[in-house]
Amino acid sequence: MNEKGNISINTENILPIIKKWLYSDKDIFLREVVSNAIDAITKHKKVVAIGEGEKPDKYRIDVKVHKKNKTITISDNGIGMTFDEVKQYINQIAFSGAIDFFEKYKDKTDAQDQIIGHFGLGFYSVFMVSELVEIQTKSYLKDEEAVYWKSDGASGYEMNEGTRQSHGTDIILHINSDKENKDLINVWKMREILEKYCKFLPIEIYLSEEGAKKDDKQEKEEEKPINNTSPLWLKDAKDCTDDEYKEFYREVFHDFKEPLFWIHLKMDYPVNLKGILYFPKLTNEYNTLEGQIQLYCNQVYVADNIKEVIPEFLLLLKGVIDCPDLPLNVSRSFLQNDGYSTKIAGHISKKVSDKLKQLYKNDTEQYYKYWDDINVFVKYGCLKEDKFYDKVKDSLVYKDIYDKYHTLDEFKKISEDKKQKDKIYYVSDKQKQAQYINMFKENDLNAVILDNILDSHFISFIESKNTGTSFIGIDSGIKEVLGEDTKDEGFDDVKKYFEEMLNSKNVTVEIKSLKTSDIPAVISANEYENRMKSMQTMYGVDIPSTDILVLNTQNTVVKKLMEMTDEDKKKDVAMYIYQLAMLSAGKLEKEDMTDFLRRNNEMLNKSVD
Ligand code: ADP
Repeated sequence: MNEKGNISINTENILPIIKKWLYSDKDIFLREVVSNAIDAITKHKKVVAIGEGEKPDKYRIDVKVHKKNKTITISDNGIGMTFDEVKQYINQIAFSGAIDFFEKYKDKTDAQDQIIGHFGLGFYSVFMVSELVEIQTKSYLKDEEAVYWKSDGASGYEMNEGTRQSHGTDIILHINSDKENKDLINVWKMREILEKYCKFLPIEIYLSEEGAKKDDKQEKEEEKPINNTSPLWLKDAKDCTDDEYKEFYREVFHDFKEPLFWIHLKMDYPVNLKGILYFPKLTNEYNTLEGQIQLYCNQVYVADNIKEVIPEFLLLLKGVIDCPDLPLNVSRSFLQNDGYSTKIAGHISKKVSDKLKQLYKNDTEQYYKYWDDINVFVKYGCLKEDKFYDKVKDSLVYKDIYDKYHTLDEFKKISEDKKQKDKIYYVSDKQKQAQYINMFKENDLNAVILDNILDSHFISFIESKNTGTSFIGIDSGIKEVLGEDTKDEGFDDVKKYFEEMLNSKNVTVEIKSLKTSDIPAVISANEYENRMKSMQTMYGVDIPSTDILVLNTQNTVVKKLMEMTDEDKKKDVAMYIYQLAMLSAGKLEKEDMTDFLRRNNEMLNKSVD
């Protein structure tokens, strides 16, 4: 036995699949129908361009909502369809008119670049929300009659002569009574969906309400198209003004803080891509960047923050990217995983590093001004992508405690000149370490500020990339830069005294001659522990610290402590020295704090006795 034949698809089986499984978001039906309308107009334009059709006064798409009738009508004055075309493209699932159109006109136009649809499935998404769909269409071909088509998406279709007078198509959706569609037949809901998916489509789209009384304001509103047909990213960078970039940023992101700077992307080869990436300003010192990169395909919105195309660290930026050759899957909301996406990602990342390098080189002062806002982004990029680090490594700068900026090498040189050993001191918390910063400043020393959430990782990263470079927290390094091992005799007793007094706490005691005589003692932290801690906080575990109390042999109180005869007073003073040091380190907590306050209050009371 031998039989050959075509495998057939039964519509009754396939339609529910499209309705239920293809699209993650019901709202995209509008994107699909409007995209078809755009394609129909693009095709008509092409036909006019080669002299085979007449241009209408204006190309436009209308979306009309009729609340009472529960209909949404999408009309275009595009190429329309003949009877045969409806039969071929609408009645047959997975038949797209796009391919035939390219074939027919391939030598005459470049239409292929601009046509959105090609899977031949999009139209059926309307059945996710409709119980009945009607089409009124008339082809631009003069001797073709208008066509009417209707279907409930389940039991077949019916075709007749249509009523449309001029070329173009009306798609009339009778919205079903699903609870989820309750809001759908509302102008506000339509506007919301159109603004999401169709905000930058190339033909004007008008939204209006039918069969309802309207006030002046509504009428005026309906006279304006809902979309911006020529988004800024399509223009050449040299033709765009700063104001236009800022205005576009506000329009897209509704962010009224001005962006710092931007990159206008425009590439034809090896990837076809246009877009604008903005570096946003941080709202305040402590918040992290929260970016948004909108991805478009031929001006149709696809999705936000698609990781396959946008390198993860770039998601901290804001921007729009339009990539006509995007390997979209059939639902057009996701990407096929292929090499092309990786290529796009690589190119975007390269453009960003080029821009940073160029800014640093050509406008260093300005770059320093941006640094506070962009450093989290740049560091994240370095941590995430070695290639990116290699590109920007010479543009990485460090802000010091005097608000000056330096590269690592520049700062190393400063540290050497100041004889700060071979280490780079850093501040991880400006407030808690204010006292240490003061001590550094008083002694004309310098440290860099590395206090954002990524910095503890970044420090280890930079150490691993630059052998011989080691960072040390200002609170851990204090005793090394400010203190000399003392040769003075007679401080062993003081040391012992403090050790006994503090034996229940995690503190060790050292004696040093500090470069300042004002301060009786400082707390010196342990760098290794500090780093462990910053990692641990991320994972929510607390590890106790072992601080070092460094007693200053230059200080009169310390010098005279052991001469005190009143034991109570002596203990009070010693405790006070310890607690003050802890307070300056931002580490005086819980019962120590209570005790400290009690001691102070007592002293205050005594002072007026
Ligand atoms: P796709 O847009 O991916 O080709 P669709 O299922 O959305 O798939 O549409 C199938 C075909 O129906 C289109 O390729 C086009 O030829 C035709 N079509 C759909 N809507 C219109 C319209 N508004 N005007 C003219 N032709 C249309």
